[in-house]
Amino acid sequence: MYFTDFDFEYEVLDALDAMRFEKCTPIQEQTLQLLMEGRDLIGVAQTGTGKTAAYLLPVLNKLCRGGYPEDSINCVIMAPTRELAQQIDRQLEGFTYFMNVSSVAVYGGNDGQRYEQELRGMAKGADIIVATPGRLISHINLGNIDLSKVSFFILDEADRMLDMGFCNDIMTIAKQLPKERQTMLFSATMPEEIRKLASDILTDPVQITLALAKPADGITQQAYICHEGQKLGILNSIFDNESSERVILFASRKTKVKEISHTLKKHGFNVGEMHSDLSQSERDEIMFQYKSRKIDMIVATDILARGIDIDDIRIVINYDVPRDCDDYIHRIGRTARAGTKGRAITLVNIEDQEYFKRIEDFIEQNVPKIELPAKLGEAPAYEPKSKQKEGRNKQRGGYGNKEKQGAKNRRKNNHKRGRGKSDTTDKPQATATTPQESVTKQQNGEVKRRRPHHRHKRRSTPKNGDGKAPSTENKQ
Ligand code: AMP
Repeated sequence: MYFTDFDFEYEVLDALDAMRFEKCTPIQEQTLQLLMEGRDLIGVAQTGTGKTAAYLLPVLNKLCRGGYPEDSINCVIMAPTRELAQQIDRQLEGFTYFMNVSSVAVYGGNDGQRYEQELRGMAKGADIIVATPGRLISHINLGNIDLSKVSFFILDEADRMLDMGFCNDIMTIAKQLPKERQTMLFSATMPEEIRKLASDILTDPVQITLALAKPADGITQQAYICHEGQKLGILNSIFDNESSERVILFASRKTKVKEISHTLKKHGFNVGEMHSDLSQSERDEIMFQYKSRKIDMIVATDILARGIDIDDIRIVINYDVPRDCDDYIHRIGRTARAGTKGRAITLVNIEDQEYFKRIEDFIEQNVPKIELPAKLGEAPAYEPKSKQKEGRNKQRGGYGNKEKQGAKNRRKNNHKRGRGKSDTTDKPQATATTPQESVTKQQNGEVKRRRPHHRHKRRSTPKNGDGKAPSTENKQ
């Protein structure tokens, strides 16, 4: 299906043209019409499916048609992390480039200038707020924000928000909103807590479920079965034979990321690290350095696992095995983007064998196991259940001891999916998708250079025939 098959305003079609979006992705195909008709919706879909555009386009279409208050916040989009909030905001900037629709991202950080910017945006009544729950709550508590005219409420990666302990915050925010509104909830999974949340905040929702993504065909998956203390040697041997450029190495905890990054630097690798202890500007700087190829490799927590748009990552290395199958898919999905090829290498210590087996079962593939280089000594057998206790005692050297402790704690804490707010709940950074300065075809066969302009408020005159009408409160 093409976007032109929908009754979009010309501003929206123009934006799609500028963004080079022509054909709908499956989630867009299934949700756009329902959302344009004003239905509440539960979308079970992951990052990478095009879900952001699926919810942004109907909202933007309605805002372009008009009838919503000019100086009030009309739409609140919640995201679990500032990186996802930034990414949504960038996609929004891309779409609203030629629209009189304004937005502000509200995601915290210790930067005073940012805070001022958030305050200004909210005071002026930006049409759309993209926010992380904690930061929005603090603005609500300080009386900085009026959500009483909101017509659209969107929860992106709702399962992650609940995992991170934001359920109460979401309910507090929802209570600030008018009852008459359109609510959309997107989640990669549908555990019981999400169903409960959905029944609390959505009205007669329609549910669209996309089959959970499997790894892209272009990804060559490989694994080393090893002892923890052999992992560094494996990395050295991989990069003895090939460049360490355009590599992302994932570890589950930020303490581990710091250790690995420190050790790799000592071994002469050109690496940067990415985790939630870094300030926003430090994270931006690392991403900039990586994108501009000043650093070869990023060692990261799952902060980078979802949603980032860097097209040419060659190799993803899982220094440890993610506990969730969807985390594995997200991590390795950083490579082989847009139909290209890439490699995903997972280092599986004895402790992690059962988790790796679970992943193999889930993706319905046996990931080829690579033999350890002889100089690293003997590898343990791949025997996902039976050998664990014996094997743990055999681990040696390197990060082994800390890993053992960490793994113990993880087993205790992470048996179920929730991982709490602290060490592993880190998230993505995005590339800008704004069509600024992009050359696009125009009327009369002419080519016109599109330039940035200041985004301002949209006309207020409503057009008809827009499915769910704006709430009566909004018509003042
Ligand atoms: P998302 O799942 O929303 O994070 O989207 C993943 C990526 O796909 C983003 O870079 C989007 O800009 C891109 N994208 C989404 N929908 C389309 C589409 N219909 N055509 C081309 N690219 C798309």
